[in-house]
Amino acid sequence: MKLSVPQFWRVKESLYEMILTRCLTCGRVSVFKRPVCLYCGSTKVVHEKSQGVGVVESFTKVYYKQDSSEDRLPGTVAVVRLSEGVKIVGEVVGVKVDEVREGMVVEAVLRRYISDDPYGVIYYGLKFKPLKQNSTR
Ligand SMILES: [Zn+2]
Repeated sequence: MKLSVPQFWRVKESLYEMILTRCLTCGRVSVFKRPVCLYCGSTKVVHEKSQGVGVVESFTKVYYKQDSSEDRLPGTVAVVRLSEGVKIVGEVVGVKVDEVREGMVVEAVLRRYISDDPYGVIYYGLKFKPLKQNSTR
């Protein structure tokens, strides 16, 4: 996820906060701030901030580091079902790779993505970390 400074500035709201789009026509919810509903195409949508809490539904270990990323290897990327019912993919941090489990309750946290930008920009974004009270399925 390497964006130019102007690109990053334009989308920073979606990177720093988990914004959901709720359709007022069909009632479905999708992740990210969108001008139209993903499911029915309606433009009657409202944007809401997610609570940022969810459950790990699936995950995989990552052994490949993207250029300039802050990823520590091996890492974990998970499909997280948010409390609002939608799924999002994100890195899980703050826990050993072998300790990540399906059913683990996680919360979104702001973390550094990239810090070796040639223009000195440090990019931040959302990742997930285990919530204190974890449960298993
Ligand atoms: Zn809709």
